[in-house]
Amino acid sequence: MADNIKYIFVTGGVTSSLGKGIISASLAKLLQLRGYRVTIQKLDPYINVDPGTLNPYEHGECFVTEDGAETDLDLGHYERFLNVPTSQANNVTTGRIYQSVIDKERRGEYLGKTVQIIPHITDEIKRCIQILGSKSEFDFVITEIGGTVGDIESLPYIEAVRQLMWEKEEDCIVIHLTLIPYLTAAGELKTKPTQHSVKTLLENGVQPDILVCRTEHELSAQLRNKIAKFCNVTPNAVIQSIDAETIYDVPVLMSEEKLDEVVLEKLNVKNKKKIDLRKWQDFLTRYKNPKGKVRIALVGKYVELKDSYKSIAESFIHAGAANEVAVEIIWTHSEDINPRTVEEKLGGLDGILVAPGFGSRGIDGKLDAIRFARESGIPFFGICLGMQMATVEFARNVMNLPDANSTEMKEYAQNPVISLMAEQKTVVNKGGTMRLGSYPCKIKKDSKAFAAYQSELVHERHRHRFEFNNDYIAAFEKAGMICTGINPDNQLVEIIEVKNHPYFVASQFHPEYKSTVLNPHPLFVSFVKAAVKYSQKK
Ligand code: GLN
Repeated sequence: MADNIKYIFVTGGVTSSLGKGIISASLAKLLQLRGYRVTIQKLDPYINVDPGTLNPYEHGECFVTEDGAETDLDLGHYERFLNVPTSQANNVTTGRIYQSVIDKERRGEYLGKTVQIIPHITDEIKRCIQILGSKSEFDFVITEIGGTVGDIESLPYIEAVRQLMWEKEEDCIVIHLTLIPYLTAAGELKTKPTQHSVKTLLENGVQPDILVCRTEHELSAQLRNKIAKFCNVTPNAVIQSIDAETIYDVPVLMSEEKLDEVVLEKLNVKNKKKIDLRKWQDFLTRYKNPKGKVRIALVGKYVELKDSYKSIAESFIHAGAANEVAVEIIWTHSEDINPRTVEEKLGGLDGILVAPGFGSRGIDGKLDAIRFARESGIPFFGICLGMQMATVEFARNVMNLPDANSTEMKEYAQNPVISLMAEQKTVVNKGGTMRLGSYPCKIKKDSKAFAAYQSELVHERHRHRFEFNNDYIAAFEKAGMICTGINPDNQLVEIIEVKNHPYFVASQFHPEYKSTVLNPHPLFVSFVKAAVKYSQKK
């Protein structure tokens, strides 16, 4: 590999939702499978400092990194594909860029200059792009620019890319992801939107090197040549990205289209390393040839927008493949569950997962779902709010504490079995102030958690303000709910299990953030395994 770090920018044209994140992650995977060290970064043009304060309906799930950054869900794809953790540096928003520039201005660092979008904002964007490159941990930095070219808010990012292309001509390329729509009435694929989108980039001084064309139909050689000619790219740099059965097919499809080879060629990388796709193919084979199927309810209040639970859904794919079964998620709105409907909604399923969340909407439905799982012996897995509600349900219905609650739902609850952490009591700002990121957890032997992890110490990621109230530990354990995971530094309860139940496990942390194709998460694997066992007994 050459000494210089190579920068690959991925921009989007024509429309949003073309899957820049998946293309970026797939290219990164192919380069990684050739033995290169790769990282991916997402630049988001919105003004929020991070997506932590965004409602999931706005932007899907908020993904949390090891270092506690609340980030865009695309970082989840990066980690699931690459099996390498990301960090705050991998996600930058316009809000963060402006915040940093304004802080510098307040400190007088601009020495009396007028602070402007060009050069100050663009310099800050360039700095954020190059931070990852400066670590010399990577051979390639792939930077995905959020939004679509032509958006007003994307302009400073495109300008920063233009400048970097100029400064580091040898070491940068731009991949433009675009759409080739099919007009049924005309029976034709149309290239004009792509031509216009490239023209918009050119107006901003950026000539893409490679075009990745999303399409529902095969692109003919003739059509590829036409796109190449009108967009100033070589014909081999017109890459077809046809709709795939699963996102995990995309690296294979991109390899067949030689996207990684063209990238190495354009970046003048000599002595190209060979690719080894075997492990990835193994996973795909297991995923696509299940030997059985389980049906698991995902109970949450944002189920209309499945992106709200992206990492959970993907974790089920990884855990399903590990168990060689297909996991069908039964998306279940917590507001649709009540004592009258619970049997009809959840009876007959092989597992019930109660999802993370905030606030009291849909809480009663979650409690009914948990009670049903506990009493009927259906495997149960609760995550974060799901764990907190499992605690409340157990206190109310097993320990005879009808007024048990989380203080998130009732501030002055008589029996606050879930309550605010001491350090949270003085917190005023909402952004970035939860308990965030990776913390250790000690696992008790002789527990389902230990059977799953096969380890006494694990590290898992958190995102919450409320906690199990340790004043109640003894009472819970006496009644049959055991705390099997404890933070060794501050004794916070991280995992609970119900003793006399085939599988009732809930965690305060979010295991879904750490499940990857190559490392399916042990708690998901064991939950799916329990669901398989339950389905066979039924
Ligand atoms: N609302 C709960 C808390 O803040 C749970 C958060 C979550 O599920 N991520 O503690």
